[in-house]
Amino acid sequence: MLKISKSKLGGLFDAIAAKQTLYIPADREDGEAEYKKYESGMALTKKLNTVRSAKDFFFPQTENLAEFRLDGKNIEVIDVRKESEDFVVFGVRACDARSFTILDKVFLAEPVDSFYKNRRDHGTIVTMACTKPAETCFCKTFGIDPTVPEGDAACFDDGESIFFLANNEKGQAFIDSIASMLEEGDATKLCDVQEKARAIMEKLPLANLKTDNFGGDKLNEYFNSEKWADLSEACLGCGTCTFVCPTCQCYDIRDFDTGHGIKRFRCWDSCMYSDFTKMAHGNPRLTQLERFRQRFMHKLVYFPANNNGEFGCVGCGRCLSKCPISMNIVKVMKALEVK
Ligand code: SF4
Ligand code: SF4
Repeated sequence: MLKISKSKLGGLFDAIAAKQTLYIPADREDGEAEYKKYESGMALTKKLNTVRSAKDFFFPQTENLAEFRLDGKNIEVIDVRKESEDFVVFGVRACDARSFTILDKVFLAEPVDSFYKNRRDHGTIVTMACTKPAETCFCKTFGIDPTVPEGDAACFDDGESIFFLANNEKGQAFIDSIASMLEEGDATKLCDVQEKARAIMEKLPLANLKTDNFGGDKLNEYFNSEKWADLSEACLGCGTCTFVCPTCQCYDIRDFDTGHGIKRFRCWDSCMYSDFTKMAHGNPRLTQLERFRQRFMHKLVYFPANNNGEFGCVGCGRCLSKCPISMNIVKVMKALEVK
């Protein structure tokens, strides 16, 4: 298996960044980690994961979709789409790597979202196996093994070196492009590292969280549950849980009058907001209970019902650590068990 000594990782990043844009998870001043465009000397964070996921590179928070120029009664429609340049997102965790399976089902289904597809075609996702999962992690609930991450290519850290493994052709092309900087290495130590990480997983507070009771066949029971009232009572409707979530994919489209024409843009939206899906006749969900219920019904019931049992959560734990009232999908799953 090809590897590079961790002491040479900076040189490898320099070489990748010389050919295409490279993003790595790096520290920020408040002690959290975020993806940053790599510049020479930048180091990988030691934090387990970033506050916002790698979703941003493929489905950015805001983007222009089209422009309209007005000239008297004539309207010129301007296609603002550009072919994306090749880029690499390095160090994506297994949970976030799986989120692309979910996002692909939404954005690559007909009609294909050409903005998203363009970035998926040009972006290479290089994952990093977890060695020390956190208390808020529950990716295993959704069948994800954090020690064997998906993505185009996967990296494994044995403490001294980073090993590379291709998961598909794009990943192999990436490894081929850096092969001159890699060397053959003995990967036997990796088994111990993986075993230790799996042993940690087994002892985590959410190790036994199961999805057995969820899915599309209990739609009515869940929808009509009396538990939603208590669960949603303190929800602030702030949308934090949706904005940090790697699988949330709702957006709004609006027109902005620049004075010289119109820019049509989209931006992330949240089902937790009072104007979400507002239509000419009004809003179909008038209370926070209904909005709160929508978020969790979508992830635990509607999405699996429409996608062969695949859930709309990857157990990244971000909503567990970021919700200001400490409400999250785990509390909902535990409270809602329909026997
Ligand atoms: S619902 Fe929460 S735990 Fe699940 S993927 Fe979204 S942020 Fe992560
Ligand atoms: S569940 Fe928490 S993070 Fe999500 S909208 Fe409500 S208060 Fe905000």
